[in-house]
Amino acid sequence: MSFDLTARLAQRRADDLYRQRPLLESPQGPEVVIDGRRMLAFCSNDYLGLASHPEVIAALRAGAERWGVGGGASHLVNGHCGPHHDLELALAEFTGRPRALLFSTGYMANLGTVTALVGKGDSVLEDRLNHASLLDAGLLSGARFSRYLHNDAASLAARLTRSEGSTLVVTDGVFSMDGDLADLPSLCAAARKQGAWVMVDDAHGFGLLGANGGGIVEHFGLGADDVPVLVGTLGKAFGTAGAFVAGSEELIETLIQFARPYIYTTSQPPAVACATLKSLELLRREHWRRKHLNSLIARFRSGAEAIGLRLMDSPTPIQPILIGGSRQALALSAELRERGILVGAIRPPTVPAGTARLRVTLSALHSEAQVDRLLVALAESWQRVSSSLLAEIDAEEGDDA
Ligand SMILES: *Cc1c(COP(=O)(O)O)cnc(C)c1O
Repeated sequence: MSFDLTARLAQRRADDLYRQRPLLESPQGPEVVIDGRRMLAFCSNDYLGLASHPEVIAALRAGAERWGVGGGASHLVNGHCGPHHDLELALAEFTGRPRALLFSTGYMANLGTVTALVGKGDSVLEDRLNHASLLDAGLLSGARFSRYLHNDAASLAARLTRSEGSTLVVTDGVFSMDGDLADLPSLCAAARKQGAWVMVDDAHGFGLLGANGGGIVEHFGLGADDVPVLVGTLGKAFGTAGAFVAGSEELIETLIQFARPYIYTTSQPPAVACATLKSLELLRREHWRRKHLNSLIARFRSGAEAIGLRLMDSPTPIQPILIGGSRQALALSAELRERGILVGAIRPPTVPAGTARLRVTLSALHSEAQVDRLLVALAESWQRVSSSLLAEIDAEEGDDA
């Protein structure tokens, strides 16, 4: 058999699932230049607006002067630099765990952690809406892999009674495409009853949830007994790059010994760790960012509900508008784009079939006026898309008759 890439790509287009990469020609911020055009953007994960913060940039620059650019080697050879070490200490302190381990990306942190903890003869139970990196990790581990109903502790408990070997329960903290929070108190209780460990990937919670930005575990007041394996990523609210796992001394030593995506890769540039140390300091000090963001979230939700849009149960800056079909989601995104507003359409397989959506994300750097502009554009665009949708349905019914 030969490769028929032409047919695969054509099918992808026919399914309205073809992906394209918009070209960003400016730094991240509320206003960006994309594909040559200045747009008001509501789609980045730079929730606190730290990606282009002058102090974070200065820390990166100073880090490069002091440490050079490349990490030069893997952590176990001689690429484990001072700033990586300092950042690990700071993240352990921030999360209140004995230790933290820095990974180059969140994808790698998840692959490395799950595969180091469970293997053949063990079990891994995952929320069915978990991030792709967690699902991939579960499959790669070779452990018995099973997905429970979204955020459903009873569904998890039923699977736990049938699990074998060491059992790891894995969930997003904040679900990346829905914006809702994992019901950790119930999930952790169910896991604990069966002696299973819970791993939480709080990529979208760190910096945002909890009085001090400590994420979903701070929000619910959960400790290391409840969540022995805590993952955070640094490319979102921290505005830099990389990820970390926080936990016990033994957990971290186990990952250093056995997590292949940790061992067999070059350490991240040490200057990036310098930048993250600065953004951690800002995120802990500047509470106004979270406060302003929360008021924007409330403003957006009440405005969108007034227009009649279908929102999801999200208290976070991830505010998806549920549309259903991929074509309609793309049409709405295109209408907004014509009005100078950028919001991504999220389609299967990233989300379940029939649940295509616009994923609006808010940032602490957005103003109230910018959120209002989004709402006005959404009202106009939604009216156009929904009326052409109705016309289409009428036409189809006419055909049938
Ligand atoms: C973005 C994301 C990741 C991947 O992190 P990267 O550092 O971008 O590789 C992992 N888990 C979740 C839930 C995410 O949203």
